[in-house]
Amino acid sequence: MAGGAGSANIAGVGIDRTYDFIIVVGGSAGCVLASRLAEDINLRVLLLEQGPRNNGWTVRIPGATGENYKPGARYMGWYPTVPQRHLRGRVIDEPFGIGLGGSSLVNGMVFLRGNPLDYERWVSEGAADWSFSNVLPYFKRLETRAEGCNR
Ligand SMILES: Cc1cc2nc3c(=O)[nH]c(=O)nc-3n(C[C@H](O)[C@H](O)[C@H](O)COP(=O)(O)OP(=O)(O)OC[C@H]3O[C@@H](n4cnc5c(N)ncnc54)[C@H](O)[C@@H]3O)c2cc1C
Repeated sequence: MAGGAGSANIAGVGIDRTYDFIIVVGGSAGCVLASRLAEDINLRVLLLEQGPRNNGWTVRIPGATGENYKPGARYMGWYPTVPQRHLRGRVIDEPFGIGLGGSSLVNGMVFLRGNPLDYERWVSEGAADWSFSNVLPYFKRLETRAEGCNR
């Protein structure tokens, strides 16, 4: 959740200021939002996250991410789904990351572009701005390939 101007007074943390934006929850989306807003040096931005500092080895070493699935692991939480209609009503526990960065702390770092036909179908269903040609520049902004330039 992001809001407009507000003030925060958090006991024991030493924060007592007025902010242009207060972003509650520092998961992947919250961090991106805070980072983009903070590019404007005239804005004062506060990002609040309930979880621990993201400095543990299980979230620093990509190959160690399996450690985060162990019971009681510091950076992983589990929420039950609603009963799944296609699984005879079973409830599944779904993981999520806890801490600054959210699920990007524990994710597999797998990246691929979406199928262009999916985007064109969304356009045909009314999402006019979501054509593949419209989103392609944003994919390119995400990508840095050691082998060569993005196409
Ligand atoms: C195990 C795993 C592997 C994944 N692998 C990949 C991958 O390889 N490639 C890929 O593209 N995507 C992957 N993902 C998905 C991707 O990481 C998420 O889609 C993305 O991080 C979601 O970002 P978000 O900001 O919506 O939520 P999150 O980043 O999950 O942020 C949620 C935030 O909410 C906070 N929070 C949760 N509950 C509460 C509460 N009750 N009160 C206050 N705060 C709360 C958490 O601390 C966290 O900071 C994976 C996800 C997981 C969990």
